[in-house]
Amino acid sequence: MKKFAVNICRLVLAVTFILSGFVKAVDPLGTQYKIQDYLTVWGLGRYVPDFVTLSASVLLSAAEFILGSCLLFAIRRRLVSKIVLVMLAAMTLLTLWLALADPIHDCGCFGDALVLTNWQTLWKNVILLILAIIVWRWPLEMPRLISEPNQWIVMNYSAIFILVVISGRSLYTLPQFDFRPYHIGANIREGWQKMMDGEDSPFADFFIETTEEGEDITEQVLNDKGYTFLMISPHLEQADDSQLDELNQIYEYSHDNEYPFYCLTASPEKAINRWCDMTGADYPFCQTDDITLKTIIRSNPGLVLLKDGVIIRKWSHNALPDEQEFIGRLEDIELGQLPSDNVASKILWILTWFVLPLVLLTIADRLWAWSRWVRSQNKKYADKAKKAIKDNNPLNKENKIMRKKIVAGNWKMNMNLQDGIALAKELNETLKADKPNCGVVICTPFIHLASIAQFLDQDIIGLGAENCADKEKGAFTGEVSAEMVKSTGAQYVILGHSERREYYKETPEILKEKVLLAQKNDLKVIFCIGESLEEREAGKQNEVVKAELEGSVFNLSEEDFRKIVIAYEPIWAIGTGKTATAEQAEEIHAYIRSIIAEKYGEAVADDTTILYGGSCKASNAPELFAKPDIDGGLIGGASLKAADFKGIIDAWKK
Ligand code: PEP
Repeated sequence: MKKFAVNICRLVLAVTFILSGFVKAVDPLGTQYKIQDYLTVWGLGRYVPDFVTLSASVLLSAAEFILGSCLLFAIRRRLVSKIVLVMLAAMTLLTLWLALADPIHDCGCFGDALVLTNWQTLWKNVILLILAIIVWRWPLEMPRLISEPNQWIVMNYSAIFILVVISGRSLYTLPQFDFRPYHIGANIREGWQKMMDGEDSPFADFFIETTEEGEDITEQVLNDKGYTFLMISPHLEQADDSQLDELNQIYEYSHDNEYPFYCLTASPEKAINRWCDMTGADYPFCQTDDITLKTIIRSNPGLVLLKDGVIIRKWSHNALPDEQEFIGRLEDIELGQLPSDNVASKILWILTWFVLPLVLLTIADRLWAWSRWVRSQNKKYADKAKKAIKDNNPLNKENKIMRKKIVAGNWKMNMNLQDGIALAKELNETLKADKPNCGVVICTPFIHLASIAQFLDQDIIGLGAENCADKEKGAFTGEVSAEMVKSTGAQYVILGHSERREYYKETPEILKEKVLLAQKNDLKVIFCIGESLEEREAGKQNEVVKAELEGSVFNLSEEDFRKIVIAYEPIWAIGTGKTATAEQAEEIHAYIRSIIAEKYGEAVADDTTILYGGSCKASNAPELFAKPDIDGGLIGGASLKAADFKGIIDAWKK
């Protein structure tokens, strides 16, 4: 149920991020204008140059799109879910302000594709934020669609696709999808007429006035029968002048064929005169509102071809048709007709170039993962068969379990340095005189380690810490790193003790880091797992220990996992005087061994030492240690007196 819920949230978030990133990337200039609107409201508009707002627009859309892809494919699950949560929290705050203050009427989260009111946007963000919290809480519940070694392909492919193919292409030519009212096929004449009749119309801001007299000629231009060229330049001062020859040729063509040609601009007369001097422009100039011009075409300058008041073609200045395409009258040539590519063909293009390659990659990856799994299963069966032959061979001297038996003490936060040294000395002497039948380890507070290491005979008693930091080194006041523990002479470290999980909020992720760092510094890890009373009463003990292993140590290679000692400690038995019965303990130890076998194979499971911990004493140790899957104990209270501890160690002699 939890998995199902997390994955529904992940899908909704992924699709939303991909769509919202895509529609913004399709129209980078539109997103830039929106960013500029925000800056203006905050009084920063004139301090931020255009290239910064344009870069922000491109990067923002790419980030959303890539995060959406990562969620969909469950790539870098923990990191991505954190970033998504932070982004949505920030967006929700921003939209709360938008809804309350209403400084901008549309937040622009889906570009021009879907315009929401500020309150609708706020509710949408609140819902997405809840979904993001769920995904962030349980990121590992999202199954990967693609294995780790191949994830970079998806990330890089998504990045190249959105940055180069979508944003780059839209900037160079025009947006592939035009969500604005002035798209190809839009009938401006009809819309404008509606507006004149008092109806709602998206073309309400459209007007054309002559530059000299300020006469409104909108009706005349729109009612012209046949073709009209509109060169659009919101600001001639900022227009790109690299394609002037092509523009002048098109003007000459229109003139020769008697098609009206107007340049619509919001620039003042001075700028128009400069443009004429610079380009030799002969065409008439008219005034139109600059926001309307920016809405009509995302290019400065751009060219629009109207036929009977309908937009039939739009060209960016970078992709103007050349002379060869203008042979004959527009009525007879392809340029004079509505283009044949429609929205469906564009969507098909995206499916072919973005979705299909990723689907194929996923299939190939899954086949590869499956073939690896089949090979590992075959190897497992072969190993099992070999082992069975070996086990049935009475002459085989190695035919016994190889795992180490250990009794480890966990002093917790007890004893000052002097008392600790005295206890360690006493134990050292006792065990030197009466050699134990098992490995013995004492895990002490950090401050005891260096002193005790000086005299402890570590061939008989191993020394360990009770914890180490999840960071390598640096500004982490009060922490003690694995490297520092190792430098005292200690060989072991206890990680994942329930007291640290509970009181110091150590999560599986933190413990995973600690295990990696401990092993990097050659420390042997005693890794604790175990369920609470509530979980035991709900019959969830197996589920809990499995999740704890999966969360922190099942990521290790076989070689590294072999170095781990597991300590099963039911939390309800620690320091409470309640011991699990030998049967209860054996049952769950056997289960733990079986899941290790599932993960790493029988041989590793057979060699893994699994200790029992929880009110273990000299009186109950012999019965517990007699069980086939219990390989010793992790001892708290009873390790604080040499005689009590020795009594437990001696259980291995019985
Ligand atoms: C422990 O904390 O690891 C433990 C087993 O404690 P006790 O033996 O005191 O129950």
